Amino acid sequence: MDTIAGMTDLSAPITLNDGVVMPRIGYGTYKVGDDEARRTVETALELGYRLVDTAEMYGNETGVGRAVANSGLARGDVFLTSKLWNDHHGYHKARAALESSLERLGTDHLDLFMLHWPSPKQGLYVETFQALLEAKEEGLIRSAGVSNFLPEHLEQVHAELGVWPSVNQVELHPYFNQAELRAWHAERGITTESWGPLGQRTGSLLHEPAVVEAVTAHEKTAAQVVIRWHLQHGCVVIPKSSHAERIAENLAVFDFALTDEEMARIDALDTGERQGIDPGSGER
Ligand code: NAD
Repeated sequence: MDTIAGMTDLSAPITLNDGVVMPRIGYGTYKVGDDEARRTVETALELGYRLVDTAEMYGNETGVGRAVANSGLARGDVFLTSKLWNDHHGYHKARAALESSLERLGTDHLDLFMLHWPSPKQGLYVETFQALLEAKEEGLIRSAGVSNFLPEHLEQVHAELGVWPSVNQVELHPYFNQAELRAWHAERGITTESWGPLGQRTGSLLHEPAVVEAVTAHEKTAAQVVIRWHLQHGCVVIPKSSHAERIAENLAVFDFALTDEEMARIDALDTGERQGIDPGSGER
């Protein structure tokens, strides 16, 4: 089953393959500076977001951590995720990088920690993931995931370590809908998380007729239609905005459902082409 609307309450969290329960929608923080993150993450948490996505590479873990602390929420009520940068592949480096992330974030654990890229040229992603699994055993992270992994990288992890990562966060939006990878993940119990969900680098997605028709039919905004499309495909989605109104708008996606026809029209926007780097290219 490709579309899960009607079967699942999409406002309820998703259970990952390791039993960890994760919100389906979160606040993304790429290109949000440290000071800005302090403000926008606090806004997002006030508005009801309970998942925050950061990364060592974004340079804003300190601001994100302060926002979580200032929010007044219990640490257990916020699902905090970060990612290990490619310079820190390798068993020992990974452990040190995780400890640095925890220090910057001002917390004793992450809910989900991911390898940001497989960096296949380094050839160290399996032992790096092994370090994450051990950190999980010790309680430093609750769930071990990856980002930008291709099936061949996931297969290698599984062959050597006997586990599938809980989450694979990948470029995914209607112009690059990753139907094949989503199905492949689903067969193996890996949760798909969409980065660049609003089409990131192109302004045209929100003006596509397939999107605009659904906007008119449901009296929602184009961003809400696209975010809903992700949720109905079973993906966790982490849109980013620096503006409070848009941060609120992007969360108001649980009072309507796209029809199968509307989903199919948006699916048909797929170009099969990434906007970002090909994880197999060795560029990262
Ligand atoms: P996005 O698709 O969330 O797009 C963000 C842009 O969309 C914003 O800059 C804003 O201009 C616009 N936007 C947001 N809300 C809107 C609204 N309601 N109406 C109109 N326009 C709106 O792109 P992103 O930030 O690149 O991706 C989301 C998150 O995914 C990031 O912040 C980051 O946390 C994560 N990410 C991960 C990777 C990775 O390699 N793992 C790469 C890129 C992003």
